Amino acid sequence: MAKISFLNGEFIEHSKAMVHIDDRAMQFADSIYEVTLVHNNKLIDGELHWQRLINSLEKMKIRINYTVKQLDDFAQQLIRQNDIVTGSLYVQITRGVAPRNQLLPENIKPTVIMTISEFKLPVAEILDKAVKTISQPDIRWQMCDVKSTGLLIGSLYKQKAADANCDDVIMLRDNVVTECCFSNIFIVKNQQLITHPLDNHILAGITRHRIIELTKQIDIKVIERKFKFDELLEADEVFSSSTTTFVRPIHIVDNQMIKDGATGRVTRELFNSYLKFVQST
Ligand code: PLP
Repeated sequence: MAKISFLNGEFIEHSKAMVHIDDRAMQFADSIYEVTLVHNNKLIDGELHWQRLINSLEKMKIRINYTVKQLDDFAQQLIRQNDIVTGSLYVQITRGVAPRNQLLPENIKPTVIMTISEFKLPVAEILDKAVKTISQPDIRWQMCDVKSTGLLIGSLYKQKAADANCDDVIMLRDNVVTECCFSNIFIVKNQQLITHPLDNHILAGITRHRIIELTKQIDIKVIERKFKFDELLEADEVFSSSTTTFVRPIHIVDNQMIKDGATGRVTRELFNSYLKFVQST
């Protein structure tokens, strides 16, 4: 069965879904996106993902003609047409097509894209695989709360990590730990879970939000505050979170082991509770 994608109100064969070369996503990365997990044919935390998409659109001053209900209906149709039980839904909205000009064009029609791919839920065994990282300065822009497709720093850093035989980069802004390339980051110290507060220096991860909710079921306090790199190196546990990686332990940073280098209890519990949350949706 040929893969079907959504483009500007139409469901078409993926290989035939084309966007114009003057689309502002090409010249200015003038577009935003969302990645949402699908399980049992349903969007996981769909409402929160749609709300974040609306927030990103508002911050970028992109106006769309669709309501959230319509976008959600399109997504449901795409899930059905591709017969996806467990997958990841990618939604991208660009400002639209216009001759190249730095000023924002008026009366422009946004390009709306949705694609869907099969996805395998992570299994607990991945918690036993050593995850190595390196640290790098966070040189991204100051609007990291917008889920922009301007992802080049994350991508270059991901490659830098791979070239150093590592899995990810931990980014530091003035020595404060912000995020990994494509995920939020948490540390555990003395039974407290600490993560960067929501502001313009991080993306408001939906998995981050769900994890904070899930900690209410276990005996651990969450503190949303800035923490420095030294604090991370001294932590009992470090993990990252995202829609596609769930809860992922971090064992090594710049060749230094976190605690004894093993995945800690809190990371395991949160991975399991997040997996249960997804499976029960
Ligand atoms: N931070 C960044 C920079 C990201 O790119 C992502 C996901 O793509 C996240 C955090 C995690 O967000 P979510 O949990 O909504 O997937």
